[in-house]
Amino acid sequence: MRKILFGVALVLLASNALAATQYIRFGKLIDGKGKVWSNVAVVVENDRIRGVEPDATPPAGAEVIDLRRYTGIPGMIDAHTHMTYYWDQAPGTSPWDQSNERQSSVTVFLAQENARKTLETGVTTVRDLGSSEYADIAMRDLINRGAMVGPRMFVSGYGLSVTDRPERPGFTFPRGGTADGVAEVLRVVRQQVAAKADVIKMYGSTGSDQDVTGFQTFTFEEMKAAADAAHGFGRKLAVHSYGPDGARDAVRAGADSIEHATDMDDQTIAEMARRGTFYVPTIDHNRYYVEYRQQFNYSEEVAAHLNDYIRRNLETARRAHQAGVRFAMGSDAVFTMFGQNTRELEWFVKAGMTPEQALTTATSNGAALLGMEKTLGAVAPGYFADIVAVEGDPLRDIGVVIRNVRWVMKGGKVVVDRTSAAK
Ligand SMILES: [Zn+2]
Repeated sequence: MRKILFGVALVLLASNALAATQYIRFGKLIDGKGKVWSNVAVVVENDRIRGVEPDATPPAGAEVIDLRRYTGIPGMIDAHTHMTYYWDQAPGTSPWDQSNERQSSVTVFLAQENARKTLETGVTTVRDLGSSEYADIAMRDLINRGAMVGPRMFVSGYGLSVTDRPERPGFTFPRGGTADGVAEVLRVVRQQVAAKADVIKMYGSTGSDQDVTGFQTFTFEEMKAAADAAHGFGRKLAVHSYGPDGARDAVRAGADSIEHATDMDDQTIAEMARRGTFYVPTIDHNRYYVEYRQQFNYSEEVAAHLNDYIRRNLETARRAHQAGVRFAMGSDAVFTMFGQNTRELEWFVKAGMTPEQALTTATSNGAALLGMEKTLGAVAPGYFADIVAVEGDPLRDIGVVIRNVRWVMKGGKVVVDRTSAAK
């Protein structure tokens, strides 16, 4: 009998918690739908936004959150991360070696720090493009079930790559994701879908880490097979290409986004604009390597190559923006770059965007790239309650978004609070 009563009480508590209404006041709100509101209230019920309305009387019983000294923006989307690339900065260790030696279950636990630092930048959703042993799938699922605090993750599992090593008896090659020829591309895409990947990643050229070469790897036919297979499963295809050749073929093969890609030719850029292919240039990624080159033990010569790549990457972004290509903000964050996820936006302004256009790459454009444009990337009725408060006017200075994040809500829960009222 007592057991039964106890059960009833728990049910009541649970239903009370579910009915939670929050009334969030902002001095200004950029809603991600093209509208800027003044003196506005966002009504949140559970994990969703119920309404956006002039600030007046809160509904009875609602929890009131006063953010009138701040500007509200939608929770941002980082369209290119590697959340499971974790380094603890222990003296005498290097980021890449440490990753290769660690068990993936340990990595998943430690990578919570990357997830937390990402939330602190106002990023509430990421598209994670490459991980090993499905550590990314584990993280996504732990976050979704509430066991781990972090951004919503849309993950790729293993990225597809071509064989690039000689035979070495005793070593377990090929590594996960290796695919040579159309048949193997189909097999590896199906494997990622079977592992419950949300998106397919393909490495269409060389180039990564200190290597800024951009030689095409997969052929057009292989890229086309990956795009068609991914689309057949309702997944999108992201193709990594450091150079122009892989990008040219990836665009024509039907990739949904092109990552990095310097020196793209005018016809490829025009084709991207015509098809609506997203460009995720990740310019800031190499700025990070240059700035933190001591952590990676990179020589001055390596830094010079990286700086040359940055210059061409920015120039390509400028041309693509002028041609009307859609951009999504992707940091390509790895290791100690988490917490700097939105610095890419400053490069976008340098490439000729207005601050508003730059912000859009991290909100509605990122949502469209994920196929989530009806629930993410805007502060509007029916959307997930992913909301960020910044101090200042991001439409005048994009740096406000990068440096002045004060409060972050994800799915109706406050995950970061640096407001003056907070302890
Ligand atoms: Zn990457």
